[in-house]
Amino acid sequence: MDPYLLLNIKRDATLPEIKAAYHRALREHHPDKVAGSTADLAAIQHAYRVLTKETTSPRPAQVVSLDEFEETNDVFTHPCRCSGSYSITEADMEAGTHLVSCSTCSEVIWVGYQLI
Ligand SMILES: [Zn+2]
Repeated sequence: MDPYLLLNIKRDATLPEIKAAYHRALREHHPDKVAGSTADLAAIQHAYRVLTKETTSPRPAQVVSLDEFEETNDVFTHPCRCSGSYSITEADMEAGTHLVSCSTCSEVIWVGYQLI
């Protein structure tokens, strides 16, 4: 099912509009209010995830210098805003890896370093 139709929003809806529509849909389809609507609820949650991924993915990654990482046994780690962390190893750097994703959330950072 079309996630836009499911949440009853326009194709160019902004992230706050998508969130508002999602919360409205959740209220309308809550199993406590509507008997046997759990399938709808799952579809709504799926639609929301699809839409929010689409609207947030083109965002450029934040640049973090390797100096801000902490080294433990050749593994460099940096805390994320969530309780997770980013980690990059010397082998990753030798392979030219710069983009690192958080261990728990969907955030990605670009690690700045120069090979010695
Ligand atoms: Zn995170």
